[in-house]
Parts: sequence; C-alpha cells; structure tokens
Amino acid sequence: MNPRYERQILMIGEEGQGKLSNSSALVVGVGGLGSPVAYYLVAAGVGRVHLVDPGYLEVSNLNRQILYTTEDIGRPKVLAAAERLSRLNPDVDVIPHTVSVDSPEFEELVKEVDVIIDCLDNWPAREALNRLAVRYGKPLVHAGVARWYGQATTVIPGKTACLACIYPKGMRSESPIPVIGPAPGVLGAIEAAEALRILLGLEPGLAGKLLIMDLSAGAFEVVKVRRRPDCPVCGGLGVGE
Ligand SMILES: [Zn+2]
Repeated sequence: MNPRYERQILMIGEEGQGKLSNSSALVVGVGGLGSPVAYYLVAAGVGRVHLVDPGYLEVSNLNRQILYTTEDIGRPKVLAAAERLSRLNPDVDVIPHTVSVDSPEFEELVKEVDVIIDCLDNWPAREALNRLAVRYGKPLVHAGVARWYGQATTVIPGKTACLACIYPKGMRSESPIPVIGPAPGVLGAIEAAEALRILLGLEPGLAGKLLIMDLSAGAFEVVKVRRRPDCPVCGGLGVGE
C-alpha cells in the first residue's frame, strides 16, 4: 500500500485507489473554486489532472485562490498551480493549458477526460462548457459563488438536468464578483468530492440535485432538479429522470 493514500484506502480499498490513478480530470478555471478542486484531486492521487485557465495571477486573487502565493503575481496561473501541485504529489501528471473554453484544443481535452469540473466565474463560458460536456457525454460537476452564497450540482448527460435545464436564461453576475474566500473554499471541496465519487464509480451525491449555500446563515439546502424535455442542450438525449 502506498502510505500517502493509507487513510483513504481504508474507505475505497486498493481497487478504488487503482481507479483514481488510472483516471483523468479536467479542472476548468484555477481560481477560487479551482484551487481546492485541483489540490484535493492531486492529493488523492487522480492519475492525470488537466488545468485550464488563460489568466495571470493578480494580487486581488489572493483572498481566495489558495494555490498561490505573493511571489506568483504576474505569472500564468496554470504554470504556478502545476508547479505547486507537482510538489504536493509527484505521482500525479499535472498538465497546464493556457487555452479558453471556446478553443479547438479545449474541445479535444473534453473528449479525452473522465470528469470535468466547472470552476469558472462567468455564465457564457459555463454555457459553452455545459454544451461540450453534453455533446461528449462527460460528467460535469458545477459550482458557482458570489458574496457568501453559491450553488453546486452534478450533471450526468442524458440522465440528469444539465445547466441549461436548471438555468435556461443563464445567470446574471456583478462584475467584478464580490466574494469572500471560504465560499469557493467550501464549494470547491464539494466539487472535488463529487469528482472523486464519479471516478470511483460511485453515485455522486448531487446528481439531479442542486445544493444552495448561504454562509451568512450557515444554511445549506438541497433541491431536486429535473430535465426539461425542451432543453436546447440536452433535450434530444434519451429519457431522463
Ligand atoms: Zn438540459
């Protein structure tokens, strides 16, 4: 047994650990959500973790983007993140990509991975990501945050509601989005747990459900979400829940 994974092998067994090491994940955005997501996936020993973000680190990112330090300001985020994560766990293949979600290179990445984690900060990019995940039948773990609030869900294309079923008109956000670090911290950790369950072949807790979080009230609510038969993105796929 690799002692690095001893405490989780107690839960998932050597077989589960083998599944993780043979799997790949696509972390889209390595900011406030992507920092904890990438950290936990790499720490858990997911074999290949792709990081996608075309951005450079700014000082105003550091209140929530916990992969980075002051020395990283001005550097491409994915490069600073990949360096740090490789030091955390050299067993994992961490691959940085400075591409955007509307590039052909990104579409190729979507095709080859086992799970996609939405750590984006704007709705148009999310809609593009949702369309790609549905087109290629890839599980998509979503979270979004603003202020003390946020939401999360897991999309299993053809089975559960996609993001366009849940938010047919998208979502408006302030610019820049006010946000305090623990909001993406909590929801990023939840996204990582969902992604690990998918890679382990276990039922993800938020498939077909929407978690709504309000840290100002210590409140977490989970509601069921259903597919829309007329959804322009996933409506054409088989019969759902
Ligand atoms: Zn849909």
